[in-house]
Amino acid sequence: MSTDNQANTASLYVIDPPPVASLSIANKTERFPVHRVYCVGRNYAAHAVEMGHDPDKEPPFFFQKNPDNLIADAAQFPYPKMSNDVHHEIELLVALKSGGDDIPLENALDCVYGYGVSLDMTRRDLQGEMKKMGRPWEIGKAFEMSAPAGPIVEVSECGHVDTGDIWLKVNDEVRQTGDLNQMIWKTSEMISILSTLFTLQPGDVILTGTPSGVAAIERGDKMHGHVAGVGDLHVTVS
Ligand code: MN
Repeated sequence: MSTDNQANTASLYVIDPPPVASLSIANKTERFPVHRVYCVGRNYAAHAVEMGHDPDKEPPFFFQKNPDNLIADAAQFPYPKMSNDVHHEIELLVALKSGGDDIPLENALDCVYGYGVSLDMTRRDLQGEMKKMGRPWEIGKAFEMSAPAGPIVEVSECGHVDTGDIWLKVNDEVRQTGDLNQMIWKTSEMISILSTLFTLQPGDVILTGTPSGVAAIERGDKMHGHVAGVGDLHVTVS
């Protein structure tokens, strides 16, 4: 078997390989390739309360979306099938340039490539049914195009983002507001704890949880998310 033709992927795979999921980067033409998407649950006390939970600091818990659930810079979020109660969750996105196992807290921020504005769109009705039955959340969380995300801003441009406004408006009406300093688990803690559970890798992204005010969207709604020091995200529900 010839080894001098490895650029011809048709000879390596029985079907065409899927495209690499990626996000854009502010002020750069190169893109950020995505390996995994980790999400943190109930990371703002006021949101934990609105979802019926005790806000006292309990260990963080995680779920995942699929890399190709990200919609990079998309202007449209298509209302997903099989749900009548789809909620917005505005979140700070953290993009990792390096990883590892058991990363010490003091080294965790060295893994960060940059930050972005993202939406953890949620089929709340399906998630609720799964919660009641003690089943996994994937059908509520990891559906097609469930994670609109804006460009990543490099740390060299925005620094490490850990304080400042995070909000979401729908049709110019404020729905969610909070401050990044209200995150129960800080970015460094999430990276360090995640690395005890998984081997973090370059290309992993973390959605860091949402402030209170999550609510349903309808077709035609115009969502406008903002994270101080990072930027804005404009997405219309179609
Ligand atoms: Mn979320």
